[in-house]
Amino acid sequence: MENIPSVKKLDQTVVNRIAAGEVIQRPSNALKELIENSLDAGSTQIQILVKDGGLKVLQIQDDGHGIRKEDMAIVCERFTTSKLNSFSDLTSISTHGFRGEALASISHVAHVTITTKTADSPCAYRALYADGKLVPVKLGQSADPKACAGNNGTQITAEDLFFNTPTRLKALKSTSDEYNRILDIVTRYAIHNAGQGAKMADVQTSKEASIVDNIKQLYGSVASELLHVQKTLDILNVKVNGYISNANYSMKRMTMLLFINHRSVDSYAIKRAIESVYSALLPKGGYPFVYLDLEIDPKNVDVNVHPTKKEVHFLNQDKIIESLIDMFEETLKNANDSRTFYVQT
Ligand code: ADP
Ligand code: MG
Repeated sequence: MENIPSVKKLDQTVVNRIAAGEVIQRPSNALKELIENSLDAGSTQIQILVKDGGLKVLQIQDDGHGIRKEDMAIVCERFTTSKLNSFSDLTSISTHGFRGEALASISHVAHVTITTKTADSPCAYRALYADGKLVPVKLGQSADPKACAGNNGTQITAEDLFFNTPTRLKALKSTSDEYNRILDIVTRYAIHNAGQGAKMADVQTSKEASIVDNIKQLYGSVASELLHVQKTLDILNVKVNGYISNANYSMKRMTMLLFINHRSVDSYAIKRAIESVYSALLPKGGYPFVYLDLEIDPKNVDVNVHPTKKEVHFLNQDKIIESLIDMFEETLKNANDSRTFYVQT
């Protein structure tokens, strides 16, 4: 009998750290959450600083509405949010975040500093967080937010990501791989949120730039090979807007920037369907560039399916994909029919 281990309740910090690991699996997940928070706060300019693939430093500065001083004590606690009040709100949610898990999770696996200023406050406030709670800068001092200088908006810094979960840290391949994932997510959001400036060492877009300008800036020549697709589908009134490469253009790997209700998501089903449309047109081994923005009534999308919220499910998925395919085929065919040949002189 003595070999049977007894069942014990896990320590709350351990529980929180495990839960945090599900939401924040790598630096790019953390950054996606931070970008979405900045967008939810109505920012028009976002600056990002990354060191060692985000493992050493991940910092984001926005010009959004800021956080009230009196809310600073609880923003990093689990399930604290300004965006969701009741379960039924989940069916009408229009912000990126909604369940108040991101900041909490990040604070369980990193050292977090928040500096924030609302427009009506004469000064900014800064506070440090660990495990969801305010912590003092030095032992023995007060943990309360300190008044400081700062612009309207919020700066959040996460340092030493996964310092307390060494197995997670070891599972990450390399800082350059993590950096590339960060670049990928910033690029996606910079393109989708054209009209809002993004700034990071390798990604710079201006507020005046259009989606196509940003595609040109970040992906290069494909920008002059794009066809615009725009339509409201009969099914569920899904609004489609996108830019897709024409049948004369191909790249070695498919680039698919998919947004559903302004969240960058993956949909294997949509990707495969689009791939099959192009495979009939492009040379073997050639793939398209696709930026696709779908707006689906929130009541028809299950946003709650995965902790990282990356894969979303929606009603009538098969029918919606069918109409998307029709739309792609028609657009590509029309473009081909009306092709004009230019003679170089
Ligand atoms: P959620 O986004 O699901 O509400 P988060 O943990 O990401 O949860 O954020 C918690 C809360 O902190 C948000 O609801 C918001 O009120 C506040 N917050 C976080 N980031 C920002 C930001 N950049 N600007 C203003 N408020 C923010
Ligand atoms: Mg959030």
